Amino acid sequence: MFKNICVFCGSSFGTRPSYVEDVHTFAQALVTRNINLVYGGGNHGLMGELARYVLERKGEVVGVIPKKIHENVQHIELTDLIIVDDMHQRKAKMYELADGFIALPGGIGTIEELAESLTWQQIGYHQKPIGILNPNGFYDKLLSLLEHMTNEGFLKANFLKNIIISDCPEELLQKMENFKPAYVSKWDT
Ligand code: AMP
Repeated sequence: MFKNICVFCGSSFGTRPSYVEDVHTFAQALVTRNINLVYGGGNHGLMGELARYVLERKGEVVGVIPKKIHENVQHIELTDLIIVDDMHQRKAKMYELADGFIALPGGIGTIEELAESLTWQQIGYHQKPIGILNPNGFYDKLLSLLEHMTNEGFLKANFLKNIIISDCPEELLQKMENFKPAYVSKWDT
């Protein structure tokens, strides 16, 4: 059952008001489908906006935050806040809780989290769906780079097919629910 989604997104708002609108549309789609949000636990930028919006609509939000960040940021009253020792424990906890992962627009932290979830899928630590919400082509350049890696022989084509991409939250969530991994293992020849 597809119940908990871990979302990676910016701790900034970005320059265009449309990023916040995209987060609202995405949050509404989660609530409509009764999907709980698992996220980094902070109240900054798009991540805070996402959590607040889901909570205001009576959705459930679980934050997983390392002590060091928790001591330095303001807090939102979440359904549950799990405080862990460090970033590694945070990731492990997020992976344990989530049935899938989605990246919304964000910066280097978002990319790092997305890349790690893809790496773990590639190695075979999990077979959970990974989605990219791509409003206004925000991630087009990253997707071009991934295609380039494939063309140059550094990334398997089937693995690229596993990444679920849409600019529409409803469509993205539907595709994630239907996900069947095309890729078996990085170790296959
Ligand atoms: P970035 O894309 O660089 O803004 O980083 C966003 C990602 O890094 C989020 O998905 C969080 O998991 C983590 N992160 C960055 N800043 C914070 C913060 N103030 N509180 C909690 N998590 C954060």
